[in-house]
Amino acid sequence: MTELLYQTDSYLHEFEANVLSVLADERAIILDRTAFYPGGGGQPCDFGSLTLGGVMYPVQKVKKLADDVLHFLGGDAPLPFAGAAARGTLDWVRRHNLMRTHTAMHVLCGTVFRDYGALVTGGDMEPLKGRMDFEFATMRGELVREIEAAVNKEVAQAREIRVKRLPREEAFQIPDLIRTKINLLPEGIAQVRTVEIVGLDLQADGGTHVRNTNEVGKIRITDYKSKGAINKRIYIEIE
Ligand SMILES: [Zn+2]
Repeated sequence: MTELLYQTDSYLHEFEANVLSVLADERAIILDRTAFYPGGGGQPCDFGSLTLGGVMYPVQKVKKLADDVLHFLGGDAPLPFAGAAARGTLDWVRRHNLMRTHTAMHVLCGTVFRDYGALVTGGDMEPLKGRMDFEFATMRGELVREIEAAVNKEVAQAREIRVKRLPREEAFQIPDLIRTKINLLPEGIAQVRTVEIVGLDLQADGGTHVRNTNEVGKIRITDYKSKGAINKRIYIEIE
């Protein structure tokens, strides 16, 4: 089982860990703790490097498998052994840009729900770019400009972002969380991690976010598209 350091400190970008096991065929190792985000919830995995026994392995693929995080080791150096000490370093520019983008996506869906009552049906992101699908009957240029102005106003409010862990029962009492499909969480999960943009948005979320919306930067809506009668896609970029 890998302890997920990024869940409690999204700004941690260097860490020490030990190898729990080595999957030789896949050139992957499982660590007892990690700051690498393995991907999920629309946020891609982190890149970086792991140094073990004086060898630095590039890491460009990280994946969650049940309670473990698999780090795929690039290069062709011999694999380390279970028990070895590792030092991990994230590609911080990529991660921080993903944090800004992920928070921007929450600002967007919080604003659109508040102003138009439209729910999100899907989304995806890469560093400084994202797309989000909403239950909107019509979307037009004028409305897009209106949304863009509203999200940038929220960013400029310098809203704090709070991450918490709540017991499942408590989380299920919060109407905002139910709207974001918390009921889809697997039965076995005893605690729910929540990400709140204070005064704007509250979601069950496993991703990494900035501390304050003032770290996001300017959000531009670059395009929009109809993806069906009640499904409209909005594309954003962060400056
Ligand atoms: Zn999210």
